[in-house]
Amino acid sequence: QKITIAIDGFSSTGKSTVAKQLAKSLGYVYVDSGAMYRAVTLFAMQNGFIETGCFDKDGLISQLDHIKISFKFNKDLGFAEVYLNEKNVEKDIRSLEVSNFVSPVATISEVREQLVKQQQNFGKDKGVVMDGRDIGTVVFPDAELKLFMTASAEKRAKRRYDELIERGDDVSYDDVLKNVQTRDHIDSTREDSPLTMAEDAIKVDNSSMNLKEQFEFVLKLSED
Ligand code: C5P
Repeated sequence: QKITIAIDGFSSTGKSTVAKQLAKSLGYVYVDSGAMYRAVTLFAMQNGFIETGCFDKDGLISQLDHIKISFKFNKDLGFAEVYLNEKNVEKDIRSLEVSNFVSPVATISEVREQLVKQQQNFGKDKGVVMDGRDIGTVVFPDAELKLFMTASAEKRAKRRYDELIERGDDVSYDDVLKNVQTRDHIDSTREDSPLTMAEDAIKVDNSSMNLKEQFEFVLKLSED
């Protein structure tokens, strides 16, 4: 019988890597909820609602109905890529610039309300692995398996830094570390749905686990 799997945790803890592997091996659908907040942020940047030193929240809220986010499965990659108003933005949403604005955007209740509704709709048929910050607490409080991933900030920043360098972005480790720490702070102190561990979640600290160990540990939990 298919279940719902919620994976939450701090930034760059490797949630999406584990979630993708799990979905693949269980034949489930993987949904990256962070990609949806990132797509809204990209929309805000492209439409002049976010400019250096100025964030027009009301302007963004007034345009929320014009933001269409969808996922399309890419066979070669083995996961669904995110589309903003029918345009593939999978790569654009991962830039450090989007990462620097996404947490402030994710504090806006109107944004959360809209995305949470869509996420719940994605998960209505079970057989879903979703990762994010509020999946086990708000989106799917009844999920059968909830994981909460953690690792030291330095480990996480190093992973994200390596990813950005590999794709050719010109970033410094210090800026990535600062971004990870700032997002953790904003995400866990915001008023609406702050990042907290659900009472019934299982904590997975992967600071010293390799990908294989991590995956085997989590797969075992999903089978129990
Ligand atoms: O998972 P990812 O790092 O891509 O998420 C980007 C940001 O989106 C997070 O730092 C957080 O501010 C926001 N987010 C959220 N709730 C979720 C998923 C992501 O607030 N469920």
